[in-house]
Amino acid sequence: MAKKRVLITGAAGFLGSHLCDRFIKEGYHVIGMDNLITGNLKNIEHLFPLENFEFYNHDVSKFVHVAGDLDYILHFASPASPIDYLKIPIQTLKVGSLGTHNLLGLARAKKARMLIASTSEVYGDPLVHPQTEDYWGNVNPIGPRGVYDEAKRFQEAITMAYHTYHQVETRIVRIFNTYGPRMRLNDGRVLPAFIGQALRGEDLTSFGDGTQTRSFCYVSDLVEGIYRLLMSDYAYPVNIGNPVEITINDFAQEIIKLTGSNVKITFKPLPTDDPKQRKPDITKAKELLGWEPKVSREEGLKITYDYFKSLPKEDWDVLPK
Ligand code: NAD
Ligand code: UDP
Repeated sequence: MAKKRVLITGAAGFLGSHLCDRFIKEGYHVIGMDNLITGNLKNIEHLFPLENFEFYNHDVSKFVHVAGDLDYILHFASPASPIDYLKIPIQTLKVGSLGTHNLLGLARAKKARMLIASTSEVYGDPLVHPQTEDYWGNVNPIGPRGVYDEAKRFQEAITMAYHTYHQVETRIVRIFNTYGPRMRLNDGRVLPAFIGQALRGEDLTSFGDGTQTRSFCYVSDLVEGIYRLLMSDYAYPVNIGNPVEITINDFAQEIIKLTGSNVKITFKPLPTDDPKQRKPDITKAKELLGWEPKVSREEGLKITYDYFKSLPKEDWDVLPK
């Protein structure tokens, strides 16, 4: 029987590359697509020799053409870290809106099932805690983060519209802060920022008073949740994340302990509209998908730290792009 074929956008990025690995492992023919705006081919270079992997260097905000059949499309292309989407705000809006529209059109033409990578940012600075899927969110549409949050909210809206009006099979995952190997040390997200600082012997920069919270999910747990959601028959949004919540200051202390660095925590201004608390309610994922995270923060951080430490030393010196 012919192999099932999956298109993964954002394939050269952090999550996209791990998804490519998973679908290759499951025996699929994987077509990776990326314009490398925040990604790196190094994340997928090990797949290039495989005959069941192809790569298209393409901006999905422009018309997308893929030869042959497609069974699944996973749309993960988008700048994802605050410093990335603040630097390239228009591309961020376009990939969430035009890019999603192009890919939904492709899904409709190919009769493929499409899963979109939505985000906990659709809840904005949430007034409901922990966040359940039926919470509509508290987003500032014209604030600096609005370019990402509103693109993702539009992405969900157009995906539901294609589902309702064109009967495209769609899935929506709302991803909460995820970490692991292949993140960029200079992408500005808190985990690579802290580990990079610790490796360079610099103090860790906690923004605001550091009492804001996040809940960190290890990448293999996220990939498993996404795989199960794709294979399910549920078209409404599902939170996937690790509900164990921690303040940024406590997280900094954990990184200092893990790295054994002789550094302190210093404080910098809180970015505009930075959410004060974030923790997924994962009841739906548990009930519908039988999914819950398995990797503890201690375990996941150790693997991630070992990965960053193994990178060439000159890569530790990068300042945020
Ligand atoms: P990433 O920056 O590592 O990967 C994104 C990839 O998309 C990059 O390789 C980039 O080059 C590519 N890309 C961006 N615009 C493109 C375009 N127009 N055409 C083709 N390729 C394009 O980020 P990530 O953490 O892997 O995030 C992947 C997806 O998951 C994003 O959609 C993001 O919004 C979503 N997400 C991630 C997290 C997380 O914690 N990592 C949380 C919520 C949502
Ligand atoms: N943060 C921090 N120091 C840094 C980078 C980030 O204190 O060097 C904070 C940031 O203000 C936010 C939290 O860490 O409160 C998570 O930030 P990240 O950019 O990783 O993700 P997001 O805000 O999108 O959850």
